[in-house]
Amino acid sequence: MKIVFASSNEGKVKEIREMLEGIEIELFSLKNYKDVPEIVEDGKTFQENALKKAKIISGFTGEVVLADDSGLQVDELGGEPGIYSSRYAGEKATDDDNINLLLARLKNIPQSKRTASFCCALVLYRTDGSYDCFESKWQGLIIDERRGDNGFGYDPVFFVPELNKTAAQLPPEIKNRISHRGQAFAQLKKSLRERLKN
Ligand code: IMP
Repeated sequence: MKIVFASSNEGKVKEIREMLEGIEIELFSLKNYKDVPEIVEDGKTFQENALKKAKIISGFTGEVVLADDSGLQVDELGGEPGIYSSRYAGEKATDDDNINLLLARLKNIPQSKRTASFCCALVLYRTDGSYDCFESKWQGLIIDERRGDNGFGYDPVFFVPELNKTAAQLPPEIKNRISHRGQAFAQLKKSLRERLKN
């Protein structure tokens, strides 16, 4: 089964291929497609954004498409930065800028109230217009001090109490297993396995 992942980032696709290992699929990025339509991520939820991407790219390629959207939701900030996670401090914001803004917004909030979740929505969109959505959350706390060098985005300040580490202190293979993305991919894998069996 051929699946196109709605991103031209080969690195991301390579990681996803590893997460879906053992499933009889061929996963392609958009790297070799020309004039790929630009998609404005203007949905209100991660799922809406992933679905929009998957639908447009499936129409464009004529293939089964997988698309994702993810971000961080901080409870005390009413779910911010949410779907704006990558551009929280502005369109050209770096990970560091985004973390600085987040910590500034949480300045007077005590540690016990800094609960947060990383969220991931995955959509598998078929050529007949039917689709499946898989969502997962990973809960933690936002801490003031950056710890660890692995990962990306908000990982250095996302503390996982059960492991006594931030996401940036976890080896990638552990993060990929327990994270919001890892868990959403585990659901997708299970569903693909069942479908391919029938
Ligand atoms: P996207 O799904 O690639 O658009 O990611 C959205 C943004 O959410 C990223 O740029 C990060 O700021 C944040 N984010 C999503 N997943 C993670 C994660 O696993 N660690 C840290 N930040 C994340």
